[in-house]
Amino acid sequence: MEIHWHRSDLRATDNTGLVAAEGEVMPVFVFDDGVLRYGSPPRVAFMLDALAELREWYRERGGDLYVARGDPSAVLPELAADHGVEAVHYAADHSGLARERDRAVTAALEDAGVAVHEHSDRLLHEPGSILTNDGDPYQVYTYFWKKWRDREKADPHDAPSAIADVSGEELPTLEDLGFEEPDADVPAAGMDAARDRLESFCDGPIFEYADARDDVAEGATSRLSAHLRWGTVGVREVYAATEAAMADAPDDEARESVEEFQSQLAWREFYHHVLHFSPEVVTENFKSYENPIEWRNDPDEIAAWTAGETGYPIVDAGMRQLREEGFMHNRVRMIVASFLTKDLLADWRHGYAQFREHLVDHDTANDNGGWQWAASTGTDAQPYFRIFNPMTQGERYDPDAEYVARYVPELRGVDPETVHSWHELDDETREAAAPDYPAPVVDHSERREEALAMFERARGDSEE
Ligand SMILES: Cc1cc2nc3c(=O)[nH]c(=O)nc-3n(C[C@H](O)[C@H](O)[C@H](O)COP(=O)(O)OP(=O)(O)OC[C@H]3O[C@@H](n4cnc5c(N)ncnc54)[C@H](O)[C@@H]3O)c2cc1C
Repeated sequence: MEIHWHRSDLRATDNTGLVAAEGEVMPVFVFDDGVLRYGSPPRVAFMLDALAELREWYRERGGDLYVARGDPSAVLPELAADHGVEAVHYAADHSGLARERDRAVTAALEDAGVAVHEHSDRLLHEPGSILTNDGDPYQVYTYFWKKWRDREKADPHDAPSAIADVSGEELPTLEDLGFEEPDADVPAAGMDAARDRLESFCDGPIFEYADARDDVAEGATSRLSAHLRWGTVGVREVYAATEAAMADAPDDEARESVEEFQSQLAWREFYHHVLHFSPEVVTENFKSYENPIEWRNDPDEIAAWTAGETGYPIVDAGMRQLREEGFMHNRVRMIVASFLTKDLLADWRHGYAQFREHLVDHDTANDNGGWQWAASTGTDAQPYFRIFNPMTQGERYDPDAEYVARYVPELRGVDPETVHSWHELDDETREAAAPDYPAPVVDHSERREEALAMFERARGDSEE
């Protein structure tokens, strides 16, 4: 018998480690307090739902998911000894913390005479497999993408057939794990929900993706991020579905749209490669400036941003979507991140902490990549002088202010032109249009100048 240790791969199909195990496979999940302390209610709620479905899947096939709580470097060797297990399989993870844990677990298992197999599973192409011609990790996404796109991709794997029936503990509740119920409506978790999303997206919306992806009210993206994060769907299965859609695409425009979607999967892999080769990006700027960036970090302004009370409608709508749904549209993530770092001049780490707390799909690599991109401190980041104007972004991507009205009830019924020019109105007009909605906390044009000066000082360009 061999163990497959599930971590962020909460599925039975298209799972490399599960199919690599020889003979009967014992699927195992360990609640590890060292990892759980980085958890948050919406994320852990999604994980528990996915685990419940996974356990059910195994039970319906005569096996079980072995559940334990403790330090995996103690739990796994003991379990292996009790059941005569010869090998443990798991999917490679890329954060510094996870790799440190995996080194400790591997050492403990090998000391106990158990073989350990780490599998490439989370990504289509593992870090180290796509490098520049000089053998370095890519720092520019476009070049990475071209190589990534042209590489052959593995096919999805079948589900295992011989599953051990060893059950361990009951699944804990959120409360058992020390978490409150989430405020957000957590989306349906599990393999069935993931497959439904993938199928319905590849059945039609994928052909319009290139045009529709930035329409924030429509929200016509796949919403697969939490599933990819928790591995309730395998990335090979997702890619295979996009290739099938490519074959069915009615015209060139639709084919380009499918490729645009595939290029988002490549962004995900790009940021995982960055995290793998530069694990310090979780807390440090990727890009170094000559001088430290003098973030303003005004606590009241950061609090207004966090609460969705900045008086910039698209920013506030995004921050409220985050709290209500544990999700935010990609375009709006870019807008709120730019606003925090370039209008409020607050350190991206404040934003990253909020996203980590509230996003169901929070993923260290992507979240960090997104924040450092917006803050102009990351790999292939937005140049420091490209500062989003939150009003024109709102006008362009939410022209009817539908997205704003959905999340900011104070602005419902206010005409879109008023919504998108909120910063220019006088107090009297604002008071008449939406008395409960705040005036802008800062002046965008002034802050834009300050942001440029802040970055120029950091670059050492300033004459001050
Ligand atoms: C500040 C900021 C923080 C972010 N934090 C996260 C995060 O914690 N977790 C996360 O998965 N994504 C994050 N993203 C990327 C992106 O916003 C989400 O992946 C996307 O909104 C999820 O919706 P979707 O599944 O409908 O995306 P789709 O548009 O349908 O894209 C399909 C998949 O591609 C990947 N993807 C798409 N865009 C990106 C991107 N820019 N970078 C990396 N991968 C991408 C995701 O896995 C996504 O599920 C962040 C972006 C920004 C600007």
